[in-house]
Amino acid sequence: DRTHKIAAIPADGIGPEVIGAGLEVLHALQQRSDGLRFEITQFDWGSDYYREHGKMMPEDGLAQLRKHDAIYFGAVGAPDIADHITLWGLRLPICQGFDQYANVRPTRILPGIPTPLRDRGVGDLDWVIVRENSEGEYSGHGGRAHRGLPEEVATEVAIFTRVGVTRIMRFAFRIAQSRPRKLLTVVTKSNAQRFGLVLWDEIAAEVSTEFPDVKWDKVLVDAMTVRMTLHPESLDTIVATNLHADILSDLAGALAGSLGVAPTANIDPERRFPSMFEPIHGSAFDITGKGIANPIASFWTACQMLDHLGEAEASARLMKAIETVCSAGISTPDVGGTATTREVTDAVIKAIFGSNA
Ligand code: NAD
Ligand code: MN
Repeated sequence: DRTHKIAAIPADGIGPEVIGAGLEVLHALQQRSDGLRFEITQFDWGSDYYREHGKMMPEDGLAQLRKHDAIYFGAVGAPDIADHITLWGLRLPICQGFDQYANVRPTRILPGIPTPLRDRGVGDLDWVIVRENSEGEYSGHGGRAHRGLPEEVATEVAIFTRVGVTRIMRFAFRIAQSRPRKLLTVVTKSNAQRFGLVLWDEIAAEVSTEFPDVKWDKVLVDAMTVRMTLHPESLDTIVATNLHADILSDLAGALAGSLGVAPTANIDPERRFPSMFEPIHGSAFDITGKGIANPIASFWTACQMLDHLGEAEASARLMKAIETVCSAGISTPDVGGTATTREVTDAVIKAIFGSNA
């Protein structure tokens, strides 16, 4: 069945601008491809909902989402609401409730998008960053005592389980194996973090024996920032903990041109629950309402969603349309262009209909 039920949660800031653009593009793909059909349900959850109801989504939010095949998510964050409320009130409960333990972030220099890396361009940087998305440093465990007093103490507990580390390692090795170079870099900090990250290293070595055709190496996270910047071509698939990969993928996004082109997928590889697809960037209130948000990240994550839904052909068609438009220099100010969100979206839709692929 090629009917796909999509839950769209545009949420805050530029979220509605880029998800709105993405839904138009999905509609174009549907018209272009016989049999492909999206049933879109829009949810008005987010900061406005919070101001009205005191929570970011209704109590039965997850039950409502569960009826869908995928979630297409914008961004959360508002200037007048604490970030931990918007994040823990909507995005993280979805990731954790649906055990989307694998976060996948493809990064590539697109044609026509300038990179800050000197003498590099298309083909020099082509990575997939796999982020552990369910535990580690963002487990939510910890506490505060003696609030406001001089002896105040706060703990932020990182949790690494054998099950959690093994499953993300396997997932990363599998992705590495599926790519032409079959190359995996395991990011670690086991020199300083000598419990959780030593377990991480040991499990990497164990799981590697299941994938004899994958070449792999280990790099400390601080050295990794240098390698990403100076030797981007030496990397292919990368796996890192929740915190490390969070930081590295912002760097990756910047090296590839802009956060505005960087997509991400929160995947439940076992497909028990819907997976969630979103741009990496946040709600960007500095440019909200100006009509200049870059919709490319939102389109690219739609490609990831289409792949996940088994629509490889539609995904490839959209990716090709994105590259055509980027090559033509039709881009928003964050990547040095002068086009609006509207103009980039129209150009991508035109490319979808124009291509004979
Ligand atoms: P941000 O990603 O919103 O913005 C960082 C910078 O990048 C800004 O200058 C912004 O204008 C620019 N930018 C981001 N996306 C862009 C796009 N598509 N096109 C053009 N320019 C773009 O990060 P921030 O400013 O640190 O955070 C703003 C809010 O977003 C905060 O409340 C934060 O908590 C939240 N946030 C949410 C998510 C999420 O929902 N997944 C991720 C990161 C930040
Ligand atoms: Mn982040």
